[in-house]
Parts: sequence; C-alpha cells; structure tokens
Amino acid sequence: MGSRRNAGERAARGVQLLAPGHPVAAGGGVTLHGITRRGSLSPAQLWRIPMIDFGLSEEQKMLRYNIREFAENEIAPIAQELDENEEFSIELTKKMADLGLFGIFVPEEYGGPGMNYLSYCIVVEELARIDGSQAATVAAGNSLGIGPIYYYGNEKQRQEWIPRLCRGEMLASFGLTEPEAGSDAGSSRTAARLENGEWIINGSKIFITNSTSPLAGICTVQAVTGTRKDGKKEISCILVPNGTPGFTAKKMTKKMMWRSSDTGELYFDDCRVPEENLLGKRGEGFHQMLQTLDNGRLAIAAMGLGGAQGAYELALKYARERKQFGVAVSTFQAIAFMLADMATEIEAARNLLYKACVLRDSGLPFSTEAAMAKLYCSEVMGRVVDRGVQIHGGYGLMKEYNIERFFRDYKLLTIGEGTSEVQRIVISRHIGCYDV
Ligand SMILES: Cc1cc2nc3c(=O)[nH]c(=O)nc-3n(C[C@H](O)[C@H](O)[C@H](O)COP(=O)(O)OP(=O)(O)OC[C@H]3O[C@@H](n4cnc5c(N)ncnc54)[C@H](O)[C@@H]3O)c2cc1C
Repeated sequence: MGSRRNAGERAARGVQLLAPGHPVAAGGGVTLHGITRRGSLSPAQLWRIPMIDFGLSEEQKMLRYNIREFAENEIAPIAQELDENEEFSIELTKKMADLGLFGIFVPEEYGGPGMNYLSYCIVVEELARIDGSQAATVAAGNSLGIGPIYYYGNEKQRQEWIPRLCRGEMLASFGLTEPEAGSDAGSSRTAARLENGEWIINGSKIFITNSTSPLAGICTVQAVTGTRKDGKKEISCILVPNGTPGFTAKKMTKKMMWRSSDTGELYFDDCRVPEENLLGKRGEGFHQMLQTLDNGRLAIAAMGLGGAQGAYELALKYARERKQFGVAVSTFQAIAFMLADMATEIEAARNLLYKACVLRDSGLPFSTEAAMAKLYCSEVMGRVVDRGVQIHGGYGLMKEYNIERFFRDYKLLTIGEGTSEVQRIVISRHIGCYDV
C-alpha cells in the first residue's frame, strides 16, 4: 500500500480518497447501475452480505467507492451502446487513465500510485460490476501490459515505457497466444533471430488485448530465440513498439463478448528491433510468461467476482420490482433461493480472491490460490449470470437489459489466461494427483 503521506499526490493524479461526509461514506444513497436506490432498498440490505470488510484499509474502501461512483456515472450510461457498436472508447480509456487506473501497483518513482495487488483487484472488480469490456482494458493494460515491463524490464526500459503507460498516453499488450499455440503456449512458432545487433521477428499472434487501437503503443512478444541444451525451445520476450516496420496489428471484430475492448491479430514479417529490446535475459521468456499469467489470473478472477456482483444486483433489483400473481417474484421461494445461492457463492468467491491477493501482497507463494480464484470466480459468474437471466424471464434475453451483456461477457473468463481445464491441471498438480 502507498502511505497516507502520498494520498495527496494520488488525489492529484485522480485516485482520490472519499471525502468525509460523502453520502456513501455516511451510509446514505446507494446506486445500482446509475439508479439511486435510496429508500427502496436499504444500504444494509444491499451491502451487508455482498460487501464484507475483509480488513480493508480506509484507503482501499474509499478507492472502491470512488471507482464504483466513476463506473456508475461514466461507464454505465454508455456501456450498452459501446457493446452494440463494438466500439473501443479512447475517451473512456483516457478518463480511466486520468483516474490513475493504469499502473496501480507501480511505485511512484515510475509514475504509479504504488498500491498493492488487492487494491488493483478491487478496482477491476468495481469496473467489471458495470462493464466487462472496460475492466478488460484496465486488467490487460496492467497485468499483461505494464506488468512484464515493470517486473522484468531493465532500468532503461522501465524509464522509457512505464511512466507513459501509467499516464495512459499509450497501452501495452502481451503477445503470447498464437493460432496454433493456445493452452500449449510453449509451442510458439513466432521466432526471433539475432543479426547485427537486431532481433528479426517472424510469426503471428492472435486474440491480443489492447493491441490495435490508436492507443496501442508496445507489445511484449514471446518468441523462440533458439534451442536449449536439453533440446527444448529457448523462449524469450522482446519489446516491439507498435508502428515498427514489419509489425502489423489488425482489429478482430464480431466478438460475442468484451465487444468494446480492443482485440487484435498481430503479424511480424522480418520485423526488426534493437537487441536491447530483449526483456530480462535471453531464454527467460517462458518463466516470465508463467509469472505474468499468475498475476493476470487474479485480475481475471476479479472480473468474474465483479461481473457476478453486478449481475446479482441486477437480478435482485428486477426480482423485487417484477410482479407476477400479484406479488414481487423475489417472494417466490424458488427465486429467493436462487438469489440466496448467488449471494453465497459471491461471498465465497470474494474470500478466495482476496486471500490470494493477500498472499501475493505478503510475498508468499500464490500460484495455486490464483488458479483456484480464477477458476472459481469465473465459474461463479457463469452460474450467477445464468440464474440472473432466468430471473429476468424473457426480458433477460433482450439486449435492452444489461443482464444479457453480462451473460455474454462471462464466457471469456473461463477461457482467457488459461482455460478452466488448465486451472484444474495447475491445481491438481499442486495437490499431488500425479506424483504417484
Ligand atoms: C477476447 C480475448 C482476449 C485475449 N487476450 C489475450 C492477450 O491479451 N494475450 C494473449 O496472449 N492471449 C490472449 N487471449 C488468448 C487466450 O488466452 C486463449 O484463447 C486461451 O489461452 C486458450 O487458448 P485457445 O483459444 O487456443 O484454446 P485451446 O488451447 O485450443 O483449447 C481448446 C480446448 O481444449 C482444452 N485443452 C487444451 N489443452 C488441454 C489439456 N492439456 N487438458 C485438458 N484440456 C485442454 C481447453 O481447455 C479448451 O477447452 C485472448 C482470448 C480472447 C478470446
């Protein structure tokens, strides 16, 4: 966590603390997707079950409230339209950058607010509560974009890229997946050879987030740079700025989900970058990729948790308002029990994710817990959106109802950054299933 002394600087950058007397701090009006609910549903009813304290600091609680307010005021009114038009919003991304949402875990010396991973996941959770696409832009921008450069870059690389990325002048992407190398990421075909002080890269990548918009500035590309002594591929990560000759990024369209996040196919055709663009040491790329995914899984879990929370709130609100047989459908035990199960699973998901974040923030091993959190939170969101649509009846299948977008957005979460099957492999290995 950044210190209190730095709160003023963070406020100046936009990550502002909630002012004393703020209606939320004072326990007053609570909003659901932009609709003030004061009077119809008490804050205690809404907050007590889904929003346990978990020992969060005052600063983290205020961060949550501020991001919630931003998401409800700035994202909620346009989320449906952006989704419908499959539009990546530069304006909204810039606003999120002005709030300080890129580089949240980066220390102040490189231009970030220096907060911890739990704070970062709270931010992603609150964005996903309203819109998975904007949460994806921030999550990929941090875990996959800024993360590898900050954690493995040398001082020159950090100084060159991190402050600009934190200011949101540009976004960084992580080029791992290839058309023939998905879950089996080590089977990359993209290759880089060193010639006269330059890496010459050839190959392609697919499904790369934040890689094609005018804000896309740099990609960490995983490439095969040789053969190791044991005969396996030597894999390294190389920084390739967008616009480098031989590097083409093409926007992928007609997505089912995350329709207003930027997804691209990348092509490298004799693309040349200086030798010094190597990230860390030659041959460390696979290890860097695994660690990056461990971190990224926490953010994907936060998206599952936030998305589940948002869908649950929509369903609860609808069930309390929709009348059939002369009464609110929430009073039918079948519906009430569905909502009870949703609230319970969300609570369990939050505990699992926050525990994994606390382990990471304490410098303890967290890979297994990150895999568990990613697996569980994404699958909880699946169950919550399914019940959420069921509670909405036929209206839940109509685009004018937000629950329909949540239903679609959920699906990526059991696939991206390691499918549910891959998470189960990680966990089952850890618990000793195969060491017999
Ligand atoms: C919108 C979007 C954004 C993305 N962003 C990025 C990004 O920024 N950077 C990036 O590098 N990638 C990104 N990805 C790629 C994503 O991480 C991959 O799609 C994912 O890892 C799965 O790879 P695949 O699609 O090739 O599926 P495959 O690996 O082909 O899997 C197909 C099926 O086989 C199963 N399977 C595979 N291997 C095993 C096994 N050993 N045991 C059991 N089952 C198995 C899988 O679980 C899955 O059900 C993104 C994808 C999408 C859709």
